[in-house]
Amino acid sequence: MTVLITGASRGIGAATAKVFAEQGFAVAVNFKNNEEAAASVVDEIIKKGGVAKSYRADVADPAQVAEMVRSAEADLGPIDVLVNNAGVCVSGLLQDMTDADYDFLMDTNVRGAFNTCRAVLPSMISRKGGAIVNVSSMWGETGASCEVLYSMTKSALAGLTKALAKEVGPSGIRVNCVAPGVIDTDMNSGYSEETMNELKEETPLSAIGSPDDVAKSIYFLCNECSGFVTGQVLGVNGGLVI
Ligand code: NAP
Repeated sequence: MTVLITGASRGIGAATAKVFAEQGFAVAVNFKNNEEAAASVVDEIIKKGGVAKSYRADVADPAQVAEMVRSAEADLGPIDVLVNNAGVCVSGLLQDMTDADYDFLMDTNVRGAFNTCRAVLPSMISRKGGAIVNVSSMWGETGASCEVLYSMTKSALAGLTKALAKEVGPSGIRVNCVAPGVIDTDMNSGYSEETMNELKEETPLSAIGSPDDVAKSIYFLCNECSGFVTGQVLGVNGGLVI
């Protein structure tokens, strides 16, 4: 079995790559810039006896995505599972956001998932099976002040998940979404220790989530334990949003 995970050089994507490798998947580790970090994810998997290879591609670029999918399928076999994890965030008041900010967020977070789904689906449909998980955010469900564009892109992923689940369900393909809460990754490195502690206190399970917490939920949505689950958004947030 083969999985393609976008943005797998760091954070949630890197943890997801390791979880799938432990379960026997060959892992295509996508990255955009951070070649060294992607190589270290691949090395760690190979050292433990797994199979993995890294692929540089900007998910926002359809040609780079098509080439990545072609290479990964040639190297590792047909893609059975796609995890659309690559994502970026820009914070600030809406009136201060530029056209470039809008394009950056929409192209990476939304167009990226469209590009990858479009590239992997023909093979999944012809094989009548597969699973796709999109990584949204709790802000896509509740909205976040000073993260309006980010929240908008993450809501779009929930819409993509539901509509595509209906479209490809008859072909045996399940499409689901995770909506993480506050997870300890580079994306939150801008938050002060005080803010992180406040968020922890507000969370019923009294913790900041780990990348591994999200990775295991993604894996759940891709194996037979969730075989009758499709079109769903699973909150992975310690109860912060219920
Ligand atoms: P992160 O630590 O900042 O890592 C982001 C990953 O995305 C990196 O591997 C990065 O690659 C890759 N990436 C960014 N732009 C890309 C592009 N255009 N093409 C391909 N790869 C690209 O982020 P994270 O916290 O793990 O977040 C992962 C996902 O979870 C995102 O979609 C994020 O919105 C979502 N999420 C995170 C949290 C949280 O609290 N952390 C909460 C809710 C949802 P390089 O290393 O090459 O730059």
